[in-house]
Amino acid sequence: MKVGVLQETTPGDRRVALVPEMVGRLRGAGLEVLVQSGAGDGAWFADSAYAEAGASIVSRDELLAEAGAVVGISRPEERITGALRAGQALVGLLNPLADPAFAAAMAARGVTAISMDGLPRTLPRAQGMDALTSQANVAGYKAALVGAAAFGRFFPLLITAAGTARPAKVLVLGTGVAGLQAIGTARRLGAVVSAYDVRPQTKTEVESLGATFIELTSVGPAAGDGGYARALAEDERQAQQAELAGHIARHDVVITTAQVPGRRPPLLVTDEAVKAMAAGSVIVDMGAGPLGGNVAGSVPDTETVTENGVTVIGAGSLAATVPTAASAAFARNVSALLLHMVADGELVIDLTDEIQAGVVITHDGAVVQPATAALLAGDPNGGAAP
Ligand code: NAD
Repeated sequence: MKVGVLQETTPGDRRVALVPEMVGRLRGAGLEVLVQSGAGDGAWFADSAYAEAGASIVSRDELLAEAGAVVGISRPEERITGALRAGQALVGLLNPLADPAFAAAMAARGVTAISMDGLPRTLPRAQGMDALTSQANVAGYKAALVGAAAFGRFFPLLITAAGTARPAKVLVLGTGVAGLQAIGTARRLGAVVSAYDVRPQTKTEVESLGATFIELTSVGPAAGDGGYARALAEDERQAQQAELAGHIARHDVVITTAQVPGRRPPLLVTDEAVKAMAAGSVIVDMGAGPLGGNVAGSVPDTETVTENGVTVIGAGSLAATVPTAASAAFARNVSALLLHMVADGELVIDLTDEIQAGVVITHDGAVVQPATAALLAGDPNGGAAP
């Protein structure tokens, strides 16, 4: 089978799904690798490097005509997905739970859609394939840097002849993969860090990074399935927002990372909480996306300054801005997944395999992944954690 590596089509995304280092690995499994010309340029991987590793450099049209599996990171734009044909596979972070109609469209075309966000992440043998984790890790690192860059003072305690600067106080809301990496990076820059999550089991991880875990008295633990958080009820949400507001006002930089699978990100920082922050404070909203964000008034990929002088940065796609590291990690993840699913140089779909049952969304003209199928059947909780 030929694996075709697309150039990413999301504006501003400089990543690429496969790096030259992984070409030999795929070829060793009997796969041919096609790379769209210029696909790696944004991440500093030249066509020549792919060619030296044994890939063929092709146009996008050639790739779509020849590849048995078309690989990208984010879902490609419609003129690409609309050109896929029966029997072809599309691999990437396709996010079918946010747009099940896309899965229906792929099934109708007879395309095998393989979405890496469906991976059973707690399965030890799947960890090398976990692109959500690898990209969240990169994004969390960048969030701390973005916060530091937008902040008008130092992060570390600095004692100089010109005076003493107190360390910045950073608050991280949501301490999954991205939040923990943001904590670690802000700590390495010298900030004093506090953090909060609705899953109290993250407390020890937060503390092991040298940060203080904030426990709210108004909201109980809200762990859901598979290590994720559950969505809060309306009264819990309001109590959480009100209690968090007091903590937010006492911090210089707030980084929010909260997500609930299959749902819009929870609002953690209300308009009132933003208004209560001191001028010069910074909020980095990693939840900001088309469905909304964790922070009232944040706009995706945009930096705004409120009337009271708070910089609010909508930063839902930060992994795309650290393209070389993010691409290298994604390439390892997608290569591991392809090698898991390929035998004798061909993709073998086996829905009895736990990994494939999670990632294979459509096959043979049907939506086969249960969570996506449930959403399409009209069950609003089909894709969400309970
Ligand atoms: P995520 O991106 O879905 O969410 C980020 C964080 O937001 C989570 O920690 C969640 O608890 C938190 N959150 C959600 N709603 C919130 C609210 N209202 N208030 C405050 N916080 C809220 O999560 P993720 O980082 O992708 O992963 C979450 C967890 O999944 C991990 O910490 C881990 O337990 C599990 N996981 C396990 C593995 C593994 O076993 N290898 C790998 C990846 C993730």
